[in-house]
Amino acid sequence: MGLIVQKFGGTSVADADRIRNVARIITDTYRKGNRVVAVLSAQGDTTDDLIAKAAEINPNASKREMDMLLSTGEQISCSLCAMAIEALGCPVVSLTGWQAGVQTDSHCGNARIKRIQADRVRRELDKKAIVIVTGFQGINKYDDVTTLGRGGSDTSAVALAAVLQADLCQIYTDVDGVYTADPRYVTGARKLDEITFDEMLELATLGAQVLHNRSVEMAKRYNVNLEVISSFTGNPGTKVKEVVKTMEKTHISGVAKDKDTARIALVGLADEPGIAFKVFSLLARRGINVDIILQSIGRDATKDISFTVHKGDLAAARAALEENRELFHFDHMDVNDNVAKVSIVGAGMINNPGVAARMFEALYSANINIRMISTSEIKVSVLVDQQEADRAVQAIHDRFFNEVKD
Ligand code: ASP
Ligand code: MG
Repeated sequence: MGLIVQKFGGTSVADADRIRNVARIITDTYRKGNRVVAVLSAQGDTTDDLIAKAAEINPNASKREMDMLLSTGEQISCSLCAMAIEALGCPVVSLTGWQAGVQTDSHCGNARIKRIQADRVRRELDKKAIVIVTGFQGINKYDDVTTLGRGGSDTSAVALAAVLQADLCQIYTDVDGVYTADPRYVTGARKLDEITFDEMLELATLGAQVLHNRSVEMAKRYNVNLEVISSFTGNPGTKVKEVVKTMEKTHISGVAKDKDTARIALVGLADEPGIAFKVFSLLARRGINVDIILQSIGRDATKDISFTVHKGDLAAARAALEENRELFHFDHMDVNDNVAKVSIVGAGMINNPGVAARMFEALYSANINIRMISTSEIKVSVLVDQQEADRAVQAIHDRFFNEVKD
């Protein structure tokens, strides 16, 4: 018995039957004597449909009005779910983000939660009501509705769990948990029983779509007891925690792929101090995140610097560099957006040499050329041609997970 926050994603509430199914999961938890706060996403493709609707009216609509529109998707699923719970005979109340006290900054479309004034939620829980809260949204200091960015309902749920000091935060979704690779594309992908916050954060950031990465960051910071679980099968899910007991022989937890990346190479830069500083501070000032960075050794008083950016930032990065061509004296810029980043993640690689070599061997055996490499304590990423990405993931996954016999 305790306080449980349960979050249900868009596919879990896509139609009337699924909403009834979710209502049953919530009321079963409640009838076992728990206090329950449920956070819901919009039904199915509702958010995409609303974006398309706005584009028909005004493709350049302000972010403020977009948030006003997008926040309605979650209101629909939450009120419908509350009605389904009423029909099952349990006390329930649905609340919007602002009614639940979710206060954010003013970055409409990608707002961050600053604090949650959860008095109303606590009052309702004290009255023994099940509380349903709209995910993905809050209110800024001007009383405008804001949204947290696509996939943000996970973050709403974890934030509420942190503030309410919930005993457990369950993220219900359409898969059984966190897998060693995307089970839709990779044969032999396996569900993990446990994964660390750090690994999950890397995987979420590197392209695994199971959790919003900001939700993992927050779960780690507030040590929220987090679990990813299927709303369809009832099978045990994946626990996300600080330290996991069973570290598999493979030393890695997963393989991820990110096709939304592009590589920029600046060829023939002046080989003098301060060039990297100037290039990357310029990009930082324009709000462009840089990922893998590679610098060649200098020759003939010149050097090359290559790096990757998110595909959505490519045009802006290119323009910024062109504008400053004189400052950096580069000879030419080479851009390639036909690339993908493939990564392995695992806390087990810290103390085990040879993990990266094994990854490279898998790629060599599959005859896949590596264009760039970057490593951190718990991950190795390589850049490969986009058309090779799926084969690369499969080859690496086979090497680490399917050849381990003991
Ligand atoms: N409905 C929002 C989206 O589609 C938020 C979420 O589902 O987490 O991105
Ligand atoms: Mg999601």
